[in-house]
Amino acid sequence: MSHPDSPFLVRPGTRAVLADFDPHGKYGLKKKEGKAEVKELNKELNKLQELLYATRKYSLLVVLQGMDTSGKDGVIKHVVEAFNPQGVCVTGFKVPTEEELDHDFLWRVHKATPRKGIVGVFNRSHYEDVLVVRVANLAPEAVWRRRYEAINAFERTLAESGTVVLKFYLHISKERQRERLQDRLDDPTEHWKFKVGDLDARAQWDAYTAAYEDALSFCSTPYAPWYIIPADRKWVRNLFISRILQDTLSSLDMAWPPLEEEAHGIETIP
Ligand code: ADP
Repeated sequence: MSHPDSPFLVRPGTRAVLADFDPHGKYGLKKKEGKAEVKELNKELNKLQELLYATRKYSLLVVLQGMDTSGKDGVIKHVVEAFNPQGVCVTGFKVPTEEELDHDFLWRVHKATPRKGIVGVFNRSHYEDVLVVRVANLAPEAVWRRRYEAINAFERTLAESGTVVLKFYLHISKERQRERLQDRLDDPTEHWKFKVGDLDARAQWDAYTAAYEDALSFCSTPYAPWYIIPADRKWVRNLFISRILQDTLSSLDMAWPPLEEEAHGIETIP
C-alpha cells in the first residue's frame, strides 16, 4: 500500500535515481522535536499493532535493505521497541544454505512471511537475489533478470492475501559509510562487526547503486512500494520510518472486535 504524497516513495513505473535523494538532509526537522515526535508515534504504533493482532485481518511485512552500515539493525531495534515483541517476528537472510540453494530463491522467504496479526521484519530479503547475486556474479544474467517479475508476482500474492508490504531502502552516503566502518575499527566492542568482505562491497559501490536502482525501479508497485529513507542521521531515519508505519497501519480497515454475544458481565459466572 503506497502513500502517494510521501517524498520518499518510488512512484511505481518511474525510474529511481539515488543521487536525487539526499541521504544527509534534515528535511527541515529539528533533532529534539524529531525525537519527541517519534515517541508519540511509537505510542500510536503500539496501539495499532494491538489492533492488527486483535483483528487478525492483515499482517505487515517490513523489508529492510541497504548498503553495509546503513542501519538495518538500528531500524530493527527501533521498530521492535515501538511494538510488543510478542507480535513481531524478525528474520535475517544470510548466504543461502545448501538446502536453500536447492530450491527456488523465494522458498526460504515465503516460509518466513508473517501470519495474520503479526509484524514481520526482514533484515535483507529476496532482493539479495537481484543485488549481491547480480553484482558478485553468483548467477548468470538470464537467471537474475527474470527475478524482478517473479518478485512482483510474489509480493502481489502476499498483498492479495492481506499482507501489507513496505520496503525501505536505507540510503547512506559513501562518506558516512566510511565513518561508520572507521568507528568499527576504532572501538574494540565493535570489532566483531567489521568484516573484511564488507570492503569488497564498498569497492563495488557503483555496481550496487546500479543494482539497487533497478530493484527500486522495477519492483516499486502500488501493492508493495519502495521508500528511499535518508539514513545518514539515525534520528531522521527512525522518524521517517515511524511516520510511514503509522500512516500505513492507520489507513487499514480495522475495528476493535466486539464483545462475545454470550458475555453479560462478570457476575453471571458462578
Ligand atoms: P549482516 O546482514 O548483518 O551484514 P552478515 O554479515 O552475515 O549479516 O551478511 C549476510 C551476507 O549474506 C551478506 O553479505 C549478504 O549479501 C549475503 N546474502 C544474503 N542473501 C544472499 C543470497 N541470496 N545470495 C548470496 N548472498 C546472500
